[in-house]
Amino acid sequence: MRKPILIGNWKMNGSLQANQALMVRLLPRLRMFRKAIDLAVCPPSPYLFQVRDLLGYTGVMLGAQNAAGYVSGAYTGENSATMLQEMGCRYVIVGHSERRALFHETSQEVAARFRSVLSAGMTPILCVGETLAERDAGLTSVVIEQQLQAVIDEVGIAAMASAVVAYEPVWAIGTGETATPEQISWVHQCIRSLVSSSAPDTAADVGQSLRIVYGGSVKPGNAYDIFSLADVDGGLIGGASLHADEFGSIAGALAEASGVTGEACVS
Ligand code: PEP
Repeated sequence: MRKPILIGNWKMNGSLQANQALMVRLLPRLRMFRKAIDLAVCPPSPYLFQVRDLLGYTGVMLGAQNAAGYVSGAYTGENSATMLQEMGCRYVIVGHSERRALFHETSQEVAARFRSVLSAGMTPILCVGETLAERDAGLTSVVIEQQLQAVIDEVGIAAMASAVVAYEPVWAIGTGETATPEQISWVHQCIRSLVSSSAPDTAADVGQSLRIVYGGSVKPGNAYDIFSLADVDGGLIGGASLHADEFGSIAGALAEASGVTGEACVS
């Protein structure tokens, strides 16, 4: 049984005042879902301390948007996984398409970051996804396999059991365009069978237990349909996670699609 998970990626947005206002509005909306689904928010690093305090004992977890692939040393501008863990992070996004495209992170670098996060005892959220040009060229599964394989080569298949994979088609991120249910289902199944087939003797359970979430312009209006798909275990939400009412409704859609009513979730 895979527990659904919803993660908010705030990207490079926020301020002390805006974060406080967002959390004051958001946390009461999430309260009824926190037992049934895992919930996390990933603010920019300078605000981890503030948001950790605002989250308190609500059960909503703290995440970071990236971690270094090195333990410590002369890596100006990077944050080590241990530092993030010390700040209270439970999750760290790695391999987001904005990191791959704008900051030229290769799949091998992403794999090293993934390893650091695991070593520090946190859960990596590994983003994979194709560009529109790659989809049009029929390369979707090839690209995703290459992105996943780099991580499997680095940490071994068993370690994937401790991760979350986020399928995020690059062309759907922040564009208002969402992949169709057929496209999402097909890729999620590909990811699951790739993981299962990576070590057929031992990995069947890893493929089946791996949480695979979808990200790319998820909004209250499309969330339920996406989360109802068999191989979708939740969402990675960008723009809508900055709006308490939208993120709250998306959490409600995930709980409903997972068969959990609001009442059943109240502690
Ligand atoms: C993201 O940045 O991971 C994302 C899914 O963004 P958006 O929801 O805005 O498309």
